[in-house]
Amino acid sequence: MSTTEQRVAIVTGGARGIGAATAVRLAEEGRAVAVLDLDESACKDTVEKITAAGGKALAVGCDVSDPEQVEAAVARVAEELGAPTILVNNAGVLRDNLLFKMSDSDWDTVMNVHLKGAFLMTRACQKHMVDAQFGRVVNLSSSSALGNRGQVNYSAAKAGLQGFTKTLAKELGKFGVTANSVAPGFIVTEMTASTAARVGMDFEEFQAAAATQIPVQRVGRPEDIANAIAFFTGDAAGFVSGQVMYVAGGPLN
Ligand code: NAP
Repeated sequence: MSTTEQRVAIVTGGARGIGAATAVRLAEEGRAVAVLDLDESACKDTVEKITAAGGKALAVGCDVSDPEQVEAAVARVAEELGAPTILVNNAGVLRDNLLFKMSDSDWDTVMNVHLKGAFLMTRACQKHMVDAQFGRVVNLSSSSALGNRGQVNYSAAKAGLQGFTKTLAKELGKFGVTANSVAPGFIVTEMTASTAARVGMDFEEFQAAAATQIPVQRVGRPEDIANAIAFFTGDAAGFVSGQVMYVAGGPLN
């Protein structure tokens, strides 16, 4: 592909939160963006935001944990937008509980969406990247990868994604493909709002309490994460691979 051709990005979980901000940001970088989420109609707002600003976007409904849906979704993106050579594995769910109360299904759901979903999406996209001799994979990890009470499933999945990222970097580097991980701290989205609700706190108070523990004294916004992802997916980041960047307003212990 010529360097003037528009690169195609897929952002999973792009209907809202960090995924939506990332899809918009990558479109601002000149990418054609497939906004992928469980429900295609839920992607409408993100797609409209991109197209209203003169960008190119496509809404794609897909459960990232389902192999057949993933293959069909990636084939559709290749057909309608072009070969996807940028992939942001962002789709995520929480099923928090203390270990003794965690069900098998809480464990399996989190593993299936975060880990298997990233595996299936990356496997389906890598052939397009290898053909193009260019690729950028960004996997959303989390500060919870370092351990977080009530999240034995989620922290294991997010730590697993860091190992997944480093292995991708080693396997795919010779094809011009980089893989990196962005590990957010506290970001204001429906995910953190649901955590506040689960612990019985008002979301504003929850954010204020979190901010006191963060060196820059504020909670993060989806755009803070989108900025880091824009860097890793850029042409200029070709010598940065296998890295984990914590974007958390400070260092983590
Ligand atoms: P969010 O607001 O809950 O959005 C997640 C999106 O993923 C939703 O649109 C959801 O769709 C979609 N999704 C869930 N399961 C899916 C599946 N099987 N296939 C396709 N899409 C699916 O979450 P967020 O806060 O933006 O988080 C985005 C990513 O960052 C996640 O991987 C999360 O773990 C990570 N992260 C977030 C924070 C934070 O503080 N917010 C911190 C660290 C890491 P539905 O609405 O239909 O469920």
